[in-house]
Amino acid sequence: MRTVYFDHAATTAVDPRVFAEMEPYFVERYGNPSEIHRLGREAREAVDKARAQVAAALGAADKEIVFTSGGTEADNMALSGFLSRLEPGHLIVSAIEHPAVMETARYLMRQNWEVTFAAVDSNGVVDIDAYAAAFRDDTRLVSIMFANNVVGTIEPIRELARIAHEHGAAFHTDAVQAVGAVPIDVADLGVDLLSLSGHKLYGPKGIGALYIKRGTRVAPILHGGGHERRLRSGTENVPGMVGLGAALELAVAELPSQRPRLEALRDRLAQGFRSSIEDTVYLGHPTERLPGNVCISVRFIEGESMVLQLDGKGIAVASGSACASGSLEPSHVILGMGYAAEEAHGSVRLTLGHENTDADVDYFLEVFPPIVARLREMSPLYVKR
Ligand SMILES: *Cc1c(COP(=O)(O)O)cnc(C)c1O
Repeated sequence: MRTVYFDHAATTAVDPRVFAEMEPYFVERYGNPSEIHRLGREAREAVDKARAQVAAALGAADKEIVFTSGGTEADNMALSGFLSRLEPGHLIVSAIEHPAVMETARYLMRQNWEVTFAAVDSNGVVDIDAYAAAFRDDTRLVSIMFANNVVGTIEPIRELARIAHEHGAAFHTDAVQAVGAVPIDVADLGVDLLSLSGHKLYGPKGIGALYIKRGTRVAPILHGGGHERRLRSGTENVPGMVGLGAALELAVAELPSQRPRLEALRDRLAQGFRSSIEDTVYLGHPTERLPGNVCISVRFIEGESMVLQLDGKGIAVASGSACASGSLEPSHVILGMGYAAEEAHGSVRLTLGHENTDADVDYFLEVFPPIVARLREMSPLYVKR
């Protein structure tokens, strides 16, 4: 059975064109970029090209890009690396960040940093007034995600960054879900630090990058041979870098055609879902959301049961709580938006991507209503209207 894959926010398949670019760097062009012989120089050229591709995709300069092992390391570097040079003070993150930011903020609290978790409204958008009021004289950094990985809401990053700068704080955004999905230009956004990850944009796992605006000082969090201009030691993941560069170049080139296509599929899926099933809540912002994200709470049943039933029909989706590795805790994102634990528990997240078609949406809309009806019949909470 072919899998209808609606879980692109968790990871994506490597695009075969990307894989073709990477392949020679495993067995034939395996050189260490630090060496000056031919194999080493070949690898160095590949790394330089990949860095230029990543920089071009963001409107950055090559020197502003540091490769990391993924989004998690880029986020850790942005927060810990930026703040470790300073005397402990105050940091602001949103209440709906990915664990890579959330747990780094908690780690920094143990290093005597004080953290404000900026509240969001019921659509998942940061409350600007409360945010602006949270700044203190010793606020050094803000970290607010570009787009949320659970509900897909896109934050007003340009305005949030402007307010941070007015208060003398630097601004980081975890753009892992957004890069490749919506246009991004670091200069236009006015951010100082931006994280991205290869495997969320049809590139390989285990590679990512941090954009560090020229003049922004960040200390390394990994120490060693001084690779990546002393910012990130460790022999370069050359095939990964080549894959990330190629994937980003393709993502930017194809964004103008993929974005409207995904938005149309998304809207048809959300519309069909809600018109065929009663007692649902469409989570996230109605319009300011990722092109491929549909997140819906289905009252009276558990997200996990829906995930398993759909899996039985060959459809891969996530529950709203899925992002903390198999955890059954209600999502802090959905709770943070003011919903009750029941609504968080009953949520499913469908994230569409490049290989999805209208037929996939049709198939989902055919098999899902009977699944919900069956699960509700078994649910002690359900009262038919
Ligand atoms: C996936 C994800 C990450 C982590 O990236 P990895 O490359 O898997 O470490 C961080 N932030 C967000 C918003 C994500 O969706």
